[in-house]
Amino acid sequence: MSTTGQCLCGKIKYSLDNPPAMTGVCHCKNCQRQAGSAFSTLAGVPVPEFHINHGQPKLYKDADTDSGDAVERFFCGDCGSPIYSKVPSQAEMIYLKTGTLDDTSEFAPQFHVWSGSKQNWVELAEGVPAMPKNPG
Ligand SMILES: [Zn+2]
Ligand SMILES: [Zn+2]
Repeated sequence: MSTTGQCLCGKIKYSLDNPPAMTGVCHCKNCQRQAGSAFSTLAGVPVPEFHINHGQPKLYKDADTDSGDAVERFFCGDCGSPIYSKVPSQAEMIYLKTGTLDDTSEFAPQFHVWSGSKQNWVELAEGVPAMPKNPG
């Protein structure tokens, strides 16, 4: 998996020191709304390994969550691409929106979260753990 990425318009560019070790899909309703899609594809990256090299993402504090955790959603203020999210309980990690990676050929989710609110047409691969809510 490539370790560089950018938003749609190219104003936000980032790099990772290492390919993400943890990958997953979030089917929560808020991710569906933010992505304008069926789910978010995510990669957990330790904060020190994530670098914004160009531009400054805007922050939306998403307090209307089922978990009660205010999710910080960072996105490009020009083109609207979601770039990454942070949750207060995991201050050491960012959750990258992997569709913004330059090369997604290696992406394969290791787990699904909030599968209880997944869209009906989405079929989850057998053998990939799915949690109806968040992992807690
Ligand atoms: Zn942009
Ligand atoms: Zn979500």
